Amino acid sequence: DTIGSNLDRTTAAHPEREALVDAPSGRRWTYAQFTADVDQLARGLLARGISRGDRVGIWAVNCPEWLLVQYATARIGAVMVNINPAYRTHELAYVLRQSGVRMLIASTEYKTSDYRAMAREVAGECPRLAETVHIGTPGWDELAAAGDAVGEDELRAAEALLSCDDPVNIQYTSGTTGFPKGATLSHHNILNNGYFVGELLGYTEQDRVCLPVPFYHCFGMVMGNLAATSHGACVVIPAPSFEPAASLKAVQDERCTSLYGVPTMFIAELGLPDFASYDLSSLRTGIMAGSPCPVEVMKRVVAEMHMAEVAICYGMTETSPVSTQTRTDDDLERRTATVGRVLPHLEVKVVDPGTGVTLPRGAAGELCTRGYSVMLGYWEEPERTAEVIDAGRWMHTGDLAVMREDGYLAITGRIKDMIIRGGENVYPREIEEFLYTHPKISDVQVVGVPDERYGEEILACVIPHDQGDPPTRDEIAAFCAGRLAHYKIPRHLRVMAEFPMTVSGKVRKVELRQEASGGGP
Ligand code: ATP
Ligand code: MG
Repeated sequence: DTIGSNLDRTTAAHPEREALVDAPSGRRWTYAQFTADVDQLARGLLARGISRGDRVGIWAVNCPEWLLVQYATARIGAVMVNINPAYRTHELAYVLRQSGVRMLIASTEYKTSDYRAMAREVAGECPRLAETVHIGTPGWDELAAAGDAVGEDELRAAEALLSCDDPVNIQYTSGTTGFPKGATLSHHNILNNGYFVGELLGYTEQDRVCLPVPFYHCFGMVMGNLAATSHGACVVIPAPSFEPAASLKAVQDERCTSLYGVPTMFIAELGLPDFASYDLSSLRTGIMAGSPCPVEVMKRVVAEMHMAEVAICYGMTETSPVSTQTRTDDDLERRTATVGRVLPHLEVKVVDPGTGVTLPRGAAGELCTRGYSVMLGYWEEPERTAEVIDAGRWMHTGDLAVMREDGYLAITGRIKDMIIRGGENVYPREIEEFLYTHPKISDVQVVGVPDERYGEEILACVIPHDQGDPPTRDEIAAFCAGRLAHYKIPRHLRVMAEFPMTVSGKVRKVELRQEASGGGP
C-alpha cells in the first residue's frame, strides 16, 4: 500500500465512521467526508503544479487541515516537509532551503506567533519557494477550489505513478542534541510503522485517539494519525498545542479510548487541581514515549487515568519512529524498566560502541535497528547518513541499551548524555529515578558539568513541589548516602521552576549543561 491506497481501504470498509474530530471548533469528518476533502485538496495541489517528488512544507500547530495536507500530499506523491511550529525565521529559512520546499502551507496566527509576517520575511531568502498558503484564509479555500479544474482520472493517474518506496515525508529530528537533521521517510517506512503500532495497541474502528502531541513530529503523525487511520479509528484533536485541561476535557467529551503524551504531559495532566473532576473512564490505552517514564507517574496513569493497556514506545525520527513497544498486557515492571519488545519484522542488536561487536544479553551498549522502519536517509546529506546507517543497513541510534533475558529492551541513556566522572560511567537516568522518590522533588534532570578534578561532576536540576521549600544540597546528599554509590551522588544542585524543552516535550539537556557551565550552579 501507499498512504493513499491505505486510506481508501479504510474508507471503503468504514465510510460512515468518524475519522477526525477537532474539539476546539467542533468540526467532524466521517471517513467518506475526510477522503473527499483529502482528494479535493490533492487535486488543488496538482492544479497548482505540485507533483510527485515536489516538497510541500507544513508549518502549523495541530489542526484538521494538518491531516488533510498529510494525506493529500501523500496521495499525489509529493513529499511533505514537517516544520516545527515553534521555529522562527532563522530555522524556518534553513529548513525551507535545505529541503527545497516549493509550496509552504502554514498557520495564520496562534497566540503570539504571526506566521504570515514570519513567512513573508523569509520568502526572499528561499528561491525555490513559489507559494505560501495560510490555513483558514481565502488563499486556503482557493487552493482547494482550484481542484475543481482537475478530474478524478487525472488524480488517479498521478497516484498510479507512485511506489511505496517513494519518499513521502521529510521529518526533522527534535534537535535535542544539536541541529535537527531531515530524516527522509517513505510510504513503506511510516505506513508499516503506524500500522504495527496500532496493531499492538489493539486498535479497531471503535477506538478514539486523543492526540495532544504535535503532528509535526512522528509521534503525532505516524503513531497517532497513521496508526488510527490504518485501523478505521478516529483522531481527536484536543487543542492546537498542548494544554493539559483541554486534553482531559476532550477525552471526557469525546469518550476517547486512547491518549498520547510524553511523560511530562501526563505529569501536567495528573497535576491539574481539578484532575479528579474529569470522567476518564472511557480510556483503555495510549502511548507514552520520547523519554523515560518515572514509576510513580506510570502507576497513576494506570490507576487514575484508567489506562491499563498503556504502552511505552521507544524510537527515533530516523526509524519512522518506533522500534520497540510494550504489549498491552505487560506489567508495571516492564512498562517502567523497559521500552518493550521489538516490533514485528524488525531487528535490533546491542553493540559495543567502540568495536561494533554484538554484546550478549544483559550488557549495555549502543542500540542498532534494521528493517522496514529505517529511513531512506538524511535529505541531501549522504555523509551524515553514512555516519548512522552502516553497509549492512543497520541504523546506529546513539542510544545506550541493554537487551534483557526476557527479550525486553531497557534504554539506559544517550551516548552523548552519559556522564564520565573520574573514569566511572554514570547513567543520569538511574539517578533521576532515585531522586524522583524524594518527597520535595516534583521533577528532576541530572547532567554532567565540567570539573577540574573528576572531568565531570554531577548536577541535579530539580523542580520542587513547593518553590518556597526546595530541598537543599545537603538534604539530597543525605538522602542518597548509603543508597547510591558515592560517585553517583550529585555534588551540585540547581532549583528551577521549569526545564528548557523542545516542542515535542523533551528536556534539552544540552541547555541545562550549557547554562550550568556558564553561570555555575
Ligand atoms: P536530535 O536527534 O535532533 O538530537 P532527538 O534524538 O531527541 O533529537 P527524536 O528523533 O525526536 O529526536 O527522538 C529520538 C530519541 O528520543 C531517541 O534516540 C531516544 O534517545 C529518545 N527516546 C525515545 N523514546 C524513548 C523512551 N521510551 N525512553 C527513553 N528515551 C527515548
Ligand atoms: Mg536523535
